[in-house]
Amino acid sequence: MAVRERIGAACEAVARDPGEVTLVVVTKTYPASDVELLAGLGVADVGENRDQEAAPKAAAVAAAGARVRWHFVGQLQRNKCRSVAGYADVVHSVDGVRLARALAGAAERHRERPLDVLVQVSIDGDPARGGAVVGAGEPDRQLDRVAAAVAGAAPLRLAGVMAVAPMHWVPEAAFEKLAEVSARLRADYPAATAVSAGMSGDLEPAIAHGATHVRIGSAVLGTRAKLR
Ligand SMILES: *Cc1c(COP(=O)(O)O)cnc(C)c1O
Repeated sequence: MAVRERIGAACEAVARDPGEVTLVVVTKTYPASDVELLAGLGVADVGENRDQEAAPKAAAVAAAGARVRWHFVGQLQRNKCRSVAGYADVVHSVDGVRLARALAGAAERHRERPLDVLVQVSIDGDPARGGAVVGAGEPDRQLDRVAAAVAGAAPLRLAGVMAVAPMHWVPEAAFEKLAEVSARLRADYPAATAVSAGMSGDLEPAIAHGATHVRIGSAVLGTRAKLR
């Protein structure tokens, strides 16, 4: 897979061990049968961004006997937490205190194991685009409060941070900022080591700035049909 080579080269360029970087193949818009094929090729981690699509897909993949770890990477609404907690192994996109509480309530009822949670960070501080904000802002969306809400909820495990580089930012600058946020968070929560950053177009700068998870769709599966 060409993406594995890109990850390997990006790690070599900054003397990182490729074993530190988890490839999450984002399978949105592709059917369950493609997830089964990927699992057969050794892909262990897949990502989805909409519950309406992911829930039946995860059920179909499980029914076919294929085992993958499901990463929920899209914007999450509180009324979807119950469903997502039923199949997700990792949620990358928690960006509010109330959302964290809703997910904790759902995970308590639906799971034996704690659910791994990454706090999604807004790199440019614009809360309209999703992500918790660093410093002042609406209390529900303040990064410190969101992290504390996740860390304080027994059904959840605070695993780290996630971000999408804003369109109008140079990716290097965006991922450098995320690395700073991650370092600050780890001072309070040493186990929160995950940094989910990098997509098909910017995985190299993400890895250079410490990404532990890259979320790759089109570079593995091809260009997606436009959503109607
Ligand atoms: C679709 C998606 C990706 C993958 O994007 P590509 O550019 O196809 O690699 C990564 N992260 C999130 C949150 C996504 O929705």
